[in-house]
Amino acid sequence: DEARTPLLVVDDVRRSFGSVKALDGASMTVERGTVHAIVGPNGSGKTTLLNAISGLISVDSGTVELEGRDITSTSASARARLGLGRTFQQPRVLDSLSVWENIDCGRRSAHQIEWFEEAIAAYAAEWDTMNSGVLPHGQRRFVEVLRALHAGPSLVALDEPAAGLSHGERLEFGQLLRDVAKTTTVTVLIVEHDLDLVWNIADTITVVDGGRVIASGTPAELRNSTTIAHLFVGVDHVA
Ligand code: ADP
Repeated sequence: DEARTPLLVVDDVRRSFGSVKALDGASMTVERGTVHAIVGPNGSGKTTLLNAISGLISVDSGTVELEGRDITSTSASARARLGLGRTFQQPRVLDSLSVWENIDCGRRSAHQIEWFEEAIAAYAAEWDTMNSGVLPHGQRRFVEVLRALHAGPSLVALDEPAAGLSHGERLEFGQLLRDVAKTTTVTVLIVEHDLDLVWNIADTITVVDGGRVIASGTPAELRNSTTIAHLFVGVDHVA
């Protein structure tokens, strides 16, 4: 039954780089319509997990399923056509193009969602008097995310999208991601080291350490879990 099949299932994925076990049996499930965060210390395997999901790297063993379909051996571009969108730690915005051209070049199909049109129109109108090359860093990140959304993905994977943003921009950014999950069919998967940001916007948080998933649950569940509560010390949990 399609409605009950999780959007994404990662099962016992392993990937080594030489002697480094970047993923050592990682498993996680992403439900439709949620904001799902992956957190963990530096070097714990977060980016490798995201790359295994989007197909930028191959895995040594384990499986990745999108909407019940095994995509473990599917290329990154084919996964993108199946509805897996993503952004990168360094925004890949083409300086010579306008804001709108940058957003529009990500379009996957005629598939349009009204919300995107409104959000994009609002941002593009504000910024499109300048070329992308002169946009401040924070707005380049927005452009990158809007391009990924404009492609009409079922899941958009964001690798530390708030890195380098000011506090105000982070709040605005978090609100954008919440709006996306609430008002569209897009599921948001976000790798983030900023627990404050994640705490306030994520439905589910998956904690990675040493290439394994050591906990997964709502922010409230994780806060009450003694094994990982130390990660949340000092995190402002007032939404
Ligand atoms: P995180 O995103 O949590 O900081 P990564 O997934 O980037 O962690 O890295 C996990 C581990 O795998 C680290 O020890 C890292 O050095 C190693 N690693 C990741 N990618 C590569 C690579 N392409 N070549 C060699 N080692 C890598």
